[in-house]
Amino acid sequence: MWRELSKPPYQWLNTNAKKFVTSPYLCAMEILDGQLTSQVIRDALKMQVAQLKSEGKKTPHLAAVLVGNNGASETYVAAKVKACSEIGFTSTMLRLEEDIPENKLLAAIEDLNSDIDVDGILVQLPLPKHISDEKVINAIHPSKDVDGFHPVSVGRMVQGLPTFVPATPHGIMLLFEHYKIDTRGMHAVVVGRSNIVGRPMSILLSSNTNPGNCTVTICHSHTRNLEEICRQGDILVAALGKPEFVKANMVKEGAIIIDVGITRVPDSSKKSGFALKGDVLFSEVAPKSSYITPVPKGVGPMTIAALMKNTFKACMDKH
Ligand code: NAP
Repeated sequence: MWRELSKPPYQWLNTNAKKFVTSPYLCAMEILDGQLTSQVIRDALKMQVAQLKSEGKKTPHLAAVLVGNNGASETYVAAKVKACSEIGFTSTMLRLEEDIPENKLLAAIEDLNSDIDVDGILVQLPLPKHISDEKVINAIHPSKDVDGFHPVSVGRMVQGLPTFVPATPHGIMLLFEHYKIDTRGMHAVVVGRSNIVGRPMSILLSSNTNPGNCTVTICHSHTRNLEEICRQGDILVAALGKPEFVKANMVKEGAIIIDVGITRVPDSSKKSGFALKGDVLFSEVAPKSSYITPVPKGVGPMTIAALMKNTFKACMDKH
């Protein structure tokens, strides 16, 4: 809702903050609240698990494998284990030493593959340099591949068949769904082509689904005229891992902005000694957008919600 149309600055009613905000742009911005949406999804799962328990049926079991002592990885795995316990899933956390030989890690995954109680396996990335990500991902049985990185899962996703979809892009699609954003026919620009975020995101957005049905451009570090291409995006997904890279001049007025980036930058004012930064300069870009995800509390919690949904699916598929 706007108050003044004749000339900037304009005043918009921010429905999240429940107050009018002043903006130099002629569009109303709404925060895509990943924290809240994730909670809605997790509450629904919690009820489904309670139902399974009341029927005496097996409940989902996620096994998380953490190799080494990477601080960010420890935080992510802890958040996933906590989400499991809140929902009522069983979780197992397997901590392995940084210098574990590759064959021992592969053997540990094989044990989890053959454990009939375990429904989903996730190995937190990145792995130490002496271990091949590819070998580890391929070692997880496709029926337990709740991260959706196994070639079988990726192939099925590309073909639009039921499968485990990688948690971060899956979470972003769930966010579009929750906010009832009709993405049909939009031009989506995805910056980043990694196997865990950018590439699957581009596949999902271009799929014949709702949300989906976008015309997609995927960009990377060799893209020419990046700013110009970004400005064409009705949807702009920033997944490059460069803090505050996307500025207002790279964004189309009224675009939907999905900020996937999470980078720890030193910040002596914080108890932890660091602050989390997204790939988008929020203060500049938000007033120009129609919807935007914040960092934190945007894509991060949605990734966890999607992982929980995948784990539930793994259990249901099996039993
Ligand atoms: P990644 O594997 O490092 O991939 C980064 C991608 O960005 C690459 O495709 C790279 O291009 C591209 N890129 C880098 N610099 C660029 C530039 N200047 N212009 C255009 N493209 C550029 O990273 P990732 O694993 O996809 O993660 C991306 C970010 O998302 C990171 O901050 C990560 O922490 C975050 N993340 C967040 C979540 C969450 O739950 N919120 C989950 C996963 C990741 P090339 O291929 O040419 O190198």
